[in-house]
Amino acid sequence: MRIEVRDASRRRIGRIEVDPARRPTRVNIEGADREVFLDWDRALDDARHLRRCVVCGCSELFRAKAFPQVTSFVVVLAFAGAVVGALGYATTPPILVAMVVVLAADVVILLLARQRLVCHRCRSSYHGLPVARYHRAWDRAVAERHSPAPQPAPLRTSPRIRTWLKRITRERTTT
Ligand SMILES: [Zn+2]
Repeated sequence: MRIEVRDASRRRIGRIEVDPARRPTRVNIEGADREVFLDWDRALDDARHLRRCVVCGCSELFRAKAFPQVTSFVVVLAFAGAVVGALGYATTPPILVAMVVVLAADVVILLLARQRLVCHRCRSSYHGLPVARYHRAWDRAVAERHSPAPQPAPLRTSPRIRTWLKRITRERTTT
């Protein structure tokens, strides 16, 4: 299977190709002089399906569609087709044929799209592997639990408000 590895702050590190049967613990990033350490402890279930993220150890993965690389190009073409249609130029046969071709490409892409697994915590993604049934789609509640903690905003108050705050807290403690 192929893993698009990300670090704890979800920054992309690179791509690795691993054989789950061999459970490699140190793998070189493709085309980079860097290694990643994989944790296979309880990562596979009894049916040899991936259960937890081998990069960060998180047990919550979600399934998503992995689209082939031509997808963004076809999306741009479809958007151009929609604009041409909206402007009323889609009347000549060559343009209609082109729009049908784009539509066919969309359908083929949907059929070719494969399942991938994505880690809720580090967002590393796993491609080219059988996905166990118990993995669900992306879930907002789970995602919020794993979202990085928001940094507290620096308290900026004017001196007047600060003295006012001090006064009301003093009043509260004395009464
Ligand atoms: Zn992870």
